[in-house]
Amino acid sequence: MHHTCFMLNIDLHCHSTISDGLLTPIQLVERAALRGVTTMALTDHDDIAGLAEARNAAEAKSITFINGVEISVSWRGRTLHIVGLNIDPEYPPLVEGLANIRAGRSQRAENIAAELAKIGIQGSLEGAYAHVGERRLIGRTHFARFLVEQGYAKDVKSVFKKYLVKGKPGYASHEWATLSDTVGWIRGSGGRAVIAHPGRYGLGKNIWNDLLQEFYAFGGSAIEVITSSHTPDQVQHFARHAHAMNLMTSCGSDFHGPGESFFDLGQLPEFPAGCTPVWHDWNHQG
Ligand code: AMP
Ligand code: MN
Ligand code: MN
Ligand code: MN
Repeated sequence: MHHTCFMLNIDLHCHSTISDGLLTPIQLVERAALRGVTTMALTDHDDIAGLAEARNAAEAKSITFINGVEISVSWRGRTLHIVGLNIDPEYPPLVEGLANIRAGRSQRAENIAAELAKIGIQGSLEGAYAHVGERRLIGRTHFARFLVEQGYAKDVKSVFKKYLVKGKPGYASHEWATLSDTVGWIRGSGGRAVIAHPGRYGLGKNIWNDLLQEFYAFGGSAIEVITSSHTPDQVQHFARHAHAMNLMTSCGSDFHGPGESFFDLGQLPEFPAGCTPVWHDWNHQG
């Protein structure tokens, strides 16, 4: 039996074939509906092309649909992900900013393929493109799926331990958007900015505090406290920090597809006490 602790089953972070998910926006919404999700956001990497289709499908299933996106950011030499919720997908600075981020992905893919070729892995560029839904969204997950298919690792999770990350073969550094632009686009479009999966960045105490201060100063709204990669301790930790900074909290599975994700859609633990959910004042809750 699936155990969901929310009275409202809410999932505000997942991916479709528009970026590096395995299900189309419609398939994703249908899976969410079967799993009792009542409110969901689609948050593809750097792209909003799946929102209209997902919204239609969600409305047909009486799911409250939230326009979302997960934006790739470079900050102090690191890559961070910022989720935007309730964005306006027509807001020109956001549309333009996302197009610019996507434009960098094809060059980075060539650089990744060149790095892999150095250790004797040939054909990875075409191989990765064979796994992509939309060519403009080529990313590391598509390289990871190619490497699994070629037998270099048993699954996508283990590929990332050996390849594609800083210090390992197949890594290519890349400049994404700035934190200030990203929060600005999200805010400017009427949305809320959320620091996605903070536990994954491995930030020391001081750097994390700097990030929180900057994020807050730029107009950031929330921290993703519940996500599949957080331990129970990390959940408590980030909930306390959200509270201390007067930031709201968000939750999402970061679902990419059956068999590839630790949490399925809408299979999320509860917030610790004292959190202010990012949806607390959304008045269109079904
Ligand atoms: P990219 O935006 O192209 O750099 O790809 C980032 C994506 O790679 C993330 O959104 C995840 O889907 C995937 N990814 C990164 N690190 C890992 C990991 N350690 N295990 C599984 N997937 C990962
Ligand atoms: Mn991803
Ligand atoms: Mn992410
Ligand atoms: Mn994600």
